Amino acid sequence: MHSVTLKKAADSFIKRKHPWIFSGAIEKVEGNPSNGETVQVFTSNKTLIGHGSFSPTSQIRVRVWSFNPEEKIDFEFFQRKFLHASQLREQIINTSNTNAYRIINAESDGLPGLIVDRYADFLVCQFLSAGAEFNKETIIEILNDIFKPVGIFERSDVEVRTKEGLQPTQGLLRGTIPDDLIETMENGFKFLVDIKNGHKTGFYLDQRDNRELILKFAKDKTVLNCFSYTGGFSVYALASGAEKVTQIESSSSALEIANKNTELNGLNIYNLENINDDVFKVLRKFRDERRTFDMIILDPPKFAESASQIQQAGRGYKDINLLAIKLLNPGGILFTFSCSGHISQELFQKIIAGAALDSEREVKIIKQLTQSSDHPVSLNFPEGLYLKGLICLAN
Ligand code: SAH
Repeated sequence: MHSVTLKKAADSFIKRKHPWIFSGAIEKVEGNPSNGETVQVFTSNKTLIGHGSFSPTSQIRVRVWSFNPEEKIDFEFFQRKFLHASQLREQIINTSNTNAYRIINAESDGLPGLIVDRYADFLVCQFLSAGAEFNKETIIEILNDIFKPVGIFERSDVEVRTKEGLQPTQGLLRGTIPDDLIETMENGFKFLVDIKNGHKTGFYLDQRDNRELILKFAKDKTVLNCFSYTGGFSVYALASGAEKVTQIESSSSALEIANKNTELNGLNIYNLENINDDVFKVLRKFRDERRTFDMIILDPPKFAESASQIQQAGRGYKDINLLAIKLLNPGGILFTFSCSGHISQELFQKIIAGAALDSEREVKIIKQLTQSSDHPVSLNFPEGLYLKGLICLAN
């Protein structure tokens, strides 16, 4: 059996059961573990505390599968984990009106580096750690047994794989998937998802609970949906009776799907205006034209990819939020988000406060938002919380 022994200084932090063991915390490696292979984890005084996967090229040298020294990392281990994760989703997802949701949320479901999303009869996986990759065949077999999907597709075409000594890759793993877009349902609304070429695994499932909140606010309003992707927030706004929805998105293929999603839900496409352009530019243009809205949604991509980008990202968030607040009619509603894990909820709120101050408007927080409940956050792994948002009222 391969093993790692921690340095004495690491003994105290390992008690917190955070699943990541950095290279600097390791005193010695015994045996010759290959990329992703399971290793025993010992404290400095040779107490076995659990098992993890070894990743020789990554700074995160070991990701702990289990802090129970007795627990073997075998077929049954993965089966137990998948059943637990599945039981949680059965409690939190109303499967009579929603069939697109996250089944496995990596570290937060005790499965470091593994993402599994369900889209109707199909599963889409990301194997983001050496350990997830090493156990791939077992994982696919169990997913097939438990969920009986028509097809399992891999979307591991992401750069982070290279940190784990793995190449980005994508393709069919089991069964079949259609050439066309997949029709899914979310809170009773229909959405077409491109699991092969779409962003992430195809859809921003983490915004489901927040999209539903739009229904409470958008009736009779003029709505501006910035960074709209395939029109998720727009469909909810139109369905709740928005007077008009304008959406801005840089990807023209995403906007084409947004049009189809609008029609698929029986909504009037004439109430939807598409702008295929850069949000930063269009917001300035609207400011110069003195165009205003009753409600604005800002759901930008991750501005801070690393801790070193926090300041620059902060300026980006402040910029779009300041412009948006100024475009709001009195009594207007702002839904604003950040999915940068490196920007805390507290910092995000400070940035919005700065924008509100500069706008010379009186802005109140009505509600604080986070990622949907199928993206749980393990308390031992606070990094799992990345999406935060605010609903604000601007007078
Ligand atoms: N709200 C969406 C998800 C948004 S993700 C939903 O509910 O599905 C962010 C989107 O912003 C992506 O679709 C990306 O293509 C787009 N994007 C990134 N930078 C942009 C920019 N500068 N201007 C316009 N769109 C941009």
